[in-house]
Amino acid sequence: MNYRNIFHDDFRPTPYWWEKAPPLTREAPPPEEVDVAVVGGGYAGLSAALQLAKGGALTAVLEARDFGNGASSRNAGLVSGGNYLGKGLKDLPDEEAAVLLHEASGALDLVEEVIATERIECHYERTGRVVAAAVPAHYAAQKKTLDRLNHLADAQAAMLPRERQRVEIASDAYSGGMIVNRTGKLHPALYLHGLLAAAEKAGASLHSGTEAQAIDGSRGRFELRTTRGRVRAREVVIATNGYTGTLTPALRRRVIPVASYLIATEPLPEDIAASLLPTGRTLTDSRRVLRFARMSPDGRRMLFGGRARFTPQAPEAAAPVLHGFMSEVFPQLQNYRITHAWCGNVAFTFDFLPHAGVCDGLHYCLGCNGSGISMMTMLGRNVANRILGAESAGAFERPSFPTRPLYSGNPNLFLPFVGSAYKFGDWLDRIRAR
Ligand SMILES: Cc1cc2nc3c(=O)[nH]c(=O)nc-3n(C[C@H](O)[C@H](O)[C@H](O)COP(=O)(O)OP(=O)(O)OC[C@H]3O[C@@H](n4cnc5c(N)ncnc54)[C@H](O)[C@@H]3O)c2cc1C
Repeated sequence: MNYRNIFHDDFRPTPYWWEKAPPLTREAPPPEEVDVAVVGGGYAGLSAALQLAKGGALTAVLEARDFGNGASSRNAGLVSGGNYLGKGLKDLPDEEAAVLLHEASGALDLVEEVIATERIECHYERTGRVVAAAVPAHYAAQKKTLDRLNHLADAQAAMLPRERQRVEIASDAYSGGMIVNRTGKLHPALYLHGLLAAAEKAGASLHSGTEAQAIDGSRGRFELRTTRGRVRAREVVIATNGYTGTLTPALRRRVIPVASYLIATEPLPEDIAASLLPTGRTLTDSRRVLRFARMSPDGRRMLFGGRARFTPQAPEAAAPVLHGFMSEVFPQLQNYRITHAWCGNVAFTFDFLPHAGVCDGLHYCLGCNGSGISMMTMLGRNVANRILGAESAGAFERPSFPTRPLYSGNPNLFLPFVGSAYKFGDWLDRIRAR
């Protein structure tokens, strides 16, 4: 299809999810004094606020934009249970890796518990996920990790040989893969709305359009200067993930914001829609330049995502690249147009692990490395528990949160090179597989 024709007449450069659950404003100015000020109103910030308010702490969430304008209502809605941590665990002793995997695995249970307890209607289903192997060598590598994933992360995973691939995905683009049963999917913006309502009901106060611009003081008596007045707080939680800015320079040096993109197709003919991912699972793959896909909750559209570019770009510019990726995996979709394209920032870390802890007296939970629905819900809660008296913020409170010399928080100088190296690696894998 000609690039110009991929855009439907109703095309919008905003998330498909916002049709049903747009970002929310909370216009009241923030209070002058609270026990805890939470900076950032995505899953991490709202989950922290919910737990803090339930624990009796006077809590205010300060969100620079509207609630839902960060990654938390821009993502694909694939809910993980610890299966994605591989790269971060590579250099760790087995025992340490086991503890992290176990805790990450529990994040799935936590999301399910929160959805049930707070009665959040967000189309959650524990569907399982196909992690497709781009080449046979990746399939072999996946096979080696199977036991560990099942024993340590209770992934309930099984191999999917190429001969059976079509049972799960209407595509011959892969060399089999792995089915990770202990994973789910949800409508990410409805989940955000549900968390927000629960935090509010528990007593937290929420403030959109309230950017925290400076933090003075130390633990026990912080003062935050915001675009809507000053707020005094005993404790502060930084939950800004891929949008971490100059407010917290030390943390900004430790996260690498990377743009991630998604498109939604127009409603597809029922037979085609039903055939693409016939068992209702979600799809990711083993490429370095990751691709992921799922059907919309009504089963009529394909949502296809990936790192079309590593740096921020207008969704309209990234959309043709993603449409091309989608047509490679599902050639039967090449003549269907897209109604939505959007992008958001995820936060990578130099050790590929999420982190929670305290830096300069500020509590933080950051660095989901692209998979944050369950992880950031959990880390938000863990940080809240630490403030409420727990000994630590759990296993992801690590001895160090690494950075690199000369890195100040702007990765746009080196990300294009990383992107090219990843693409080259994927290309080389395909050449070797021939
Ligand atoms: C396209 C895309 C697809 C993804 N797909 C998946 C997926 O399928 N599964 C999955 O698990 N994860 C996925 N993710 C990742 C997931 O969305 C994130 O990990 C998660 O939403 C992070 O939540 P958070 O609360 O930490 O950060 P965010 O939701 O990004 O919230 C951070 C907030 O901090 C605010 N902020 C920043 N600075 C300030 C300040 N100074 N003052 C006040 N507020 C401030 C920002 O405005 C922002 O709203 C995806 C992400 C993207 C972008």
